[in-house]
Amino acid sequence: MSQRKCPVCETRTVSPEFKPFCSNRCAEVDLSRWLKGSYAIPGRPADQADEVPGQPDPSDA
Ligand SMILES: [Zn+2]
Repeated sequence: MSQRKCPVCETRTVSPEFKPFCSNRCAEVDLSRWLKGSYAIPGRPADQADEVPGQPDPSDA
């Protein structure tokens, strides 16, 4: 097996023209991830709000 999978979409095989990605689109996706600095921390919440608007406090009766 000499064909490697694209690290971005993980479904298509790497194209020699765009390696190590399968296409120019995936190459741009990977680049944008690096620029945002979120490449190594997927799913991390950007903000954690302490207050949730619209939710009444049940203990405040
Ligand atoms: Zn891809």
